[in-house]
Amino acid sequence: MQYCEICKTLAPDHCFHEDHSLRAPRDNDPVLLLTTDPLHADMLEPLLKDADIPYVRQGRLGVGMTLRAGNMLEEYSFYVPYSAYEQASELSMVVAPNCSD
Ligand SMILES: [Zn+2]
Repeated sequence: MQYCEICKTLAPDHCFHEDHSLRAPRDNDPVLLLTTDPLHADMLEPLLKDADIPYVRQGRLGVGMTLRAGNMLEEYSFYVPYSAYEQASELSMVVAPNCSD
């Protein structure tokens, strides 16, 4: 797998965005694990903690928007280091078997 620095995703040969160039991933590269709703995000978070996988959880809308629109519209993206990606993606499949890609 190759790594896109701009999208923070792994791809076999080319990025979804054709003008992005790929390089070999390094162990500490942040990789997008999944984007999911608050319910699944709250289920996944303790699993990552239990497995000692460092992660970043990033909301798409931000706190102000969440307060106005209600929490269920929020989506969270999880980023994990490339070195832990394989283990983390197995955990994410346990939480959300039908909505991981
Ligand atoms: Zn890209």
